[in-house]
Amino acid sequence: MPGFEIFSDEERKEVNDVLKTGVLFRYGFEQARKGHWKAKSFEKEFAERIAVKYCHLCSSGTAALTIALAACGIGAGDEVIVPPFTFIATIEALLNAGAVPVFSEIDETLCLDPSVLENVITPRTRAVLPVHMCGSMARIDSIKVFCDKNGLVLMEDACQSVGSSYKGKALGTFGRMGCFSFDPVKTITCGEGGAVVTNNENLYRIAEAFSDHGHDHIGDDRGLEGHSIIGANYRISELNAAIGLAQLKKLDSILEKQRAHKKVLKDALTCCTKISFREIPDPEGDSATFLSFFLPDEHMTRKAADLLAKEGVDGCFYWYDNNWHYIRQWDHLKNLSFASKPPIMLSDNCPDYSKVFLPRSDEIMGRNISMLIKLSWGEKEVDLRGQKMVRVLNSL
Ligand SMILES: *Cc1c(COP(=O)(O)O)cnc(C)c1O
Repeated sequence: MPGFEIFSDEERKEVNDVLKTGVLFRYGFEQARKGHWKAKSFEKEFAERIAVKYCHLCSSGTAALTIALAACGIGAGDEVIVPPFTFIATIEALLNAGAVPVFSEIDETLCLDPSVLENVITPRTRAVLPVHMCGSMARIDSIKVFCDKNGLVLMEDACQSVGSSYKGKALGTFGRMGCFSFDPVKTITCGEGGAVVTNNENLYRIAEAFSDHGHDHIGDDRGLEGHSIIGANYRISELNAAIGLAQLKKLDSILEKQRAHKKVLKDALTCCTKISFREIPDPEGDSATFLSFFLPDEHMTRKAADLLAKEGVDGCFYWYDNNWHYIRQWDHLKNLSFASKPPIMLSDNCPDYSKVFLPRSDEIMGRNISMLIKLSWGEKEVDLRGQKMVRVLNSL
């Protein structure tokens, strides 16, 4: 997820436009800004790029999730079905909104398994929040069918999957709202930033108001704008939006390079009989930020991860032991460790997160290794990496 690998003159030029005017605020200052609207331009270009009607750019992916939950009316005590393999931000956004995360099993797509969602549905369930992990997709069509059938809101965390699609339709555009992150390690970056997208004008209006203290952004005098809801401040600055604007123009070339590198490696690894690849419901829509594969069991997977690291094949993640991305190491969630009393402690449906039992997900994550695909690799380097990996994996 390498936006940070390609920072260059284009980013500097966009930032300089902002520095020259001194207008760092995304709203107003029409005279002084001399035609530069970086956040607004990003929103327009990104919406066009992923073929969605509305995009609101905000301060982070976590903010995007928070805004989308508010706009979709998901709050205190509402149960939301989530996968145990995600970044903790997905769970934090829910908890901070007063909602109740309910974990359901993943399958070999490394995303929510649509076929078992009904096992965790209750009368309090309001939404399903699939996370399209590591640049590829959940079985989003089946998940959407499940949501429609049960009258649930579908909201997508596509923070790691900018530029990915399923059967030609961008991830993040299947549900009522989709969320993206442009933090420094995502596919493209604003430095810090995020976006919510939707085809529903009303949801968009609530989202942009909520992100800016409830301002309705009608008229040209900020002091006279109406406020129909209590909001917060999740605004992005023009400096960050400017960086994103430059990066967005590079998205297609980033995807092309990642896909080429991934293809070389995947082709090389097809001779390794011990491994199988992550299931990708639409391989053409994979943004190819990662190459994920499975070994036969946990023991062999740990051994493979160790050997790959020893051989200098860097960027191979064994998420099962990782503090960030899998529930197994989230002791702060299991112990409900918060800085202050969280709303969930007032809910009569607060689960005991120390007892969440997800044997299928454990089994899948215990056998998975995901390797980061880098833009900066040269052709020779990719070939050599492939050869090294084959040697290691065939030696097991
Ligand atoms: C990065 C990420 C987020 C949060 O994005 P930030 O911009 O870092 O707040 C949320 N969900 C997933 C799956 C992510 O990878």
